[in-house]
Amino acid sequence: MRRPIVGYHRDAEGHWVAELACGHNQHVRHQPPWVERPWVTSEAGRRSRLGLRLDCVKCDRGEPPDGPIFVIQLHDASSQHYDFRLEVDGVLKSWAVPKGPSTDPRVKRLAIPTEDHSLAYADFEGVIPAGEYGAGTVLIWDRGHYRNLKGGEDPPSVAGQLADGHATVWLEGEKLRGGYALIRTRLEQGKDWLLVKIDDEAADARRNPTSTEPESVQSGRTLEQIAAEEGQDGNGH
Ligand code: MN
Repeated sequence: MRRPIVGYHRDAEGHWVAELACGHNQHVRHQPPWVERPWVTSEAGRRSRLGLRLDCVKCDRGEPPDGPIFVIQLHDASSQHYDFRLEVDGVLKSWAVPKGPSTDPRVKRLAIPTEDHSLAYADFEGVIPAGEYGAGTVLIWDRGHYRNLKGGEDPPSVAGQLADGHATVWLEGEKLRGGYALIRTRLEQGKDWLLVKIDDEAADARRNPTSTEPESVQSGRTLEQIAAEEGQDGNGH
C-alpha cells in the first residue's frame, strides 16, 4: 500500500527515516549498499518529497504503527484525575490532569507533572491497594501512538521541547485524535502545565469525551465495574 511521507527523523545511528501517514517509519536508503538517498541529506530535498507516496510493506503485513505510545489513565485516587503519559526516551513522562483532556481548543486544562512511570505501566488497569502509592482504581481511558508535530530541519525532539516547556504532539488514540500542546506556565514557580487542544481539523468543541465516553478502551468497563471486580471494597476505602 502506498502511503504519503508526513515527516522525517534520524534513527539512533543517524540514518534518515521517513514518517508515513499510516504511522509506520521507513528508512530512506538505497538497497545494498545502504547509503542515504542523496535528496534526504538536504532540507530542501526532504521538503520536496513531503507527500510523496512510498510502498509501505508494514501496512501490507498489517503491522501496528511504529511511533511512541501515549496512554491516558483515569485514576480514582484521593481526588479523581486523568494521568496523561507520553513515551519519551524509554519512560512514560506523566502529568495529572484533574479535568482530563478537552477536544475544544478554547479550553485549557491544568496538568501537574508527576513521576515518570515505566513503559509497562501503560497496560495497567485495576485496583492499587490502600496504603500503596496511587491507591485507588485505574482505568485505561485512551491510548495509541503519537508523533512529534515539530517539523523542519532537525526538528527538536519531544524530550527537548518538554525541557523548554512547550511541546506539541499529534495523538492517534481511540477517543482522542489530533494536535495537543503541553505548555509550562509561570504559575506556581513553573510547576503547573496546561494541556490544550490545538485548533486543527480534529478539534471539536461539541464533543466532551471525558463525560460521554467514560469506559476503558481496554476492557469496556467503568471505574465502578473495575473496582467491584478487582478491588476489596471499591476504591480502597
Ligand atoms: Mn494518578
